[in-house]
Amino acid sequence: MSFHRIAIIGLGLLGGSIGLAVKSHLPGVQTTGYDADPAVRLRASERGLADVICSTAAKAVKDADLVILCVPVGAMGAAAQEFADALKPGVLVSDVGSSKATITQALQDALPGVAVIPAHPVAGTENSGPDAGFASLFQQRWCIITPPERADSKLVDRLVDFWEALGAMVEVMDAAHHDRVLAVTSHIPHLIAYTIVGTASDLEEVTRSEVIKYSAGGFRDFTRIAASDPTMWRDVFLNNREAVLEMLDTFLTDLAHMRESIIASDGEAMFDLFTKTRAIRRSIVALGQDDARPDFGRSDHKG
Ligand code: NAP
Repeated sequence: MSFHRIAIIGLGLLGGSIGLAVKSHLPGVQTTGYDADPAVRLRASERGLADVICSTAAKAVKDADLVILCVPVGAMGAAAQEFADALKPGVLVSDVGSSKATITQALQDALPGVAVIPAHPVAGTENSGPDAGFASLFQQRWCIITPPERADSKLVDRLVDFWEALGAMVEVMDAAHHDRVLAVTSHIPHLIAYTIVGTASDLEEVTRSEVIKYSAGGFRDFTRIAASDPTMWRDVFLNNREAVLEMLDTFLTDLAHMRESIIASDGEAMFDLFTKTRAIRRSIVALGQDDARPDFGRSDHKG
């Protein structure tokens, strides 16, 4: 491993999982960690999320050759500014944020002259905070690296090696493409889950007990996604606005077609669509990106 000292800024689900994964897969690598919240720093220290937990971001990054920002998307620029003057020459700064174009700009603005190569491990759970992280989070999951134009290819290769060492499979693409792909595979599904759970809760005076009692009918799976961190997802929708709106328009058109199929009692159109979508689910399981068990194997991943 060409990185010997790694600083992790933000010690919640992602930061904590990186710290634990480095400890388990790269035992010779030293980690430092910092979180803005003193209670999180204390808990991170108790759980050993990094070798050394520092009281400031500047102390955490000062000897690091790789710094990874694991804070909410909207906090990236300010978090980077906090340690900008403490970085050592030759350092690589990366992140794990769920949208990429606005973060790339924010980090480049905050860190002029510093090598910045953003990344997004497509791995997570609905839990957040320092107790949520676990070492195997990235195992067999994709990590998308989005090098800015003119990024040093040797640094890109080193970052690829790092993520592969943590068990991830790596893909390299540009930030704009990442943001469109993730809008449809992650951001719109979260938007739908938040909306449907909101719709059901608005009906709760009439049907509160039924919503909970019969949730296994499908609603339950939406509630898992809709329990995701509000700060994180607010920031994702504020930052990936254009791609989300584009995919949302496409989704609304498809939803309108589905509505028409119901109005017209067009069973064939529904059957064809549901057959196609069932095949997609089966290929996701076949590719090892989910588990066919009813609880999606989640009981194995308690952090
Ligand atoms: P999290 O569990 O809430 O952890 C984020 C931590 O960063 C919190 O402890 C937060 O403290 C702290 N923080 C906020 N601003 C800071 C600053 N300026 N300096 C230092 N620490 C700061 O969130 P997460 O789920 O790990 O998400 C972190 C990043 O990973 C986000 O950008 C998200 O988009 C991305 N991501 C998340 C997932 C997922 O499934 N959760 C998956 C892939 C990528 P406070 O709580 O006090 O603000």
